[in-house]
Amino acid sequence: MLSPVPAPLPPSSIDGVTVTYADGRRALAEVTLALGPGEQVAIIGPSGAGKTTLLATLACALRPSAGRVDLFGQDPWSLPDSALHALRGSLFLAPQVPPLAPRQRVVNAVLAGRLPQWTAWEALRSLVRPREIAAARDALAQFRLEDKLFLRCDRLSGGERQRVGLARLLLSQARLFLLDEPVSALDPALAGAALEALQQAARDRAATLVVSLHAVDLALARFPRLIGLRGGKVLFDLPRDQVDDAQLAALYGSELGESFQAPPTEDDARRKLTRCL
Ligand code: ADP
Ligand code: MG
Repeated sequence: MLSPVPAPLPPSSIDGVTVTYADGRRALAEVTLALGPGEQVAIIGPSGAGKTTLLATLACALRPSAGRVDLFGQDPWSLPDSALHALRGSLFLAPQVPPLAPRQRVVNAVLAGRLPQWTAWEALRSLVRPREIAAARDALAQFRLEDKLFLRCDRLSGGERQRVGLARLLLSQARLFLLDEPVSALDPALAGAALEALQQAARDRAATLVVSLHAVDLALARFPRLIGLRGGKVLFDLPRDQVDDAQLAALYGSELGESFQAPPTEDDARRKLTRCL
């Protein structure tokens, strides 16, 4: 029996957020954006645009130097530690390269998605005798990896590691999914299937999904809203059908090469851009 979709949580937003790293580099400059409950948003932009920094800021892994973060109606940085810990249980940040312990078995790496719900004792016991093997297998099956359940993580290819990190998300109870280039190590067929599984999982739990993507064609094909980030600033934040070739050219600018000229037709331009990126 399918479980009912949970009630949506309040929206989240960041307002005038600036993030400056310890070496003085400003990675985000006064970024403002709002995320409605259940929204699915792609962040695109050239390397160094601030995509990873933005996701880490939304995940409360980075504290902004200025501006305000609001997650489900709460300011994480004014919460006491215990409440911040509870809030982090509703967020899931999937780094581009998931941190998997080399000697850990895949089943335990996936079940780590349950850690926020388990007591320390349950977590320890699960390392010896995994607690929810069927759930881990089902999550891996979404990414065509169910046959790797008992393999050690250091035996996996890069693309398999990436998919184990995504399967972990399906075991979590997060309501804000923050995925940093989640399919960068996958071939196009697997990438499409993995994004479909993640988008369906988000719909099933009325979770909000924010995904940074290198592949503009995937962003355009699969996401109703695209945010273009460049130099730490939001260049555009638009429904996909309003993202045009001039905006994409401005977003990627010199990365497309000095010789890039506006091509003759819109379709040609889009094809050329999405092939290049
Ligand atoms: P993207 O994910 O779009 O490639 P990042 O968020 O990783 O961009 O980086 C944005 C900018 O911040 C880049 O100029 C990058 O070099 C810099 N940066 C990222 N992480 C750090 C860090 N830990 N210390 C200093 N600068 C960093
Ligand atoms: Mg990045």
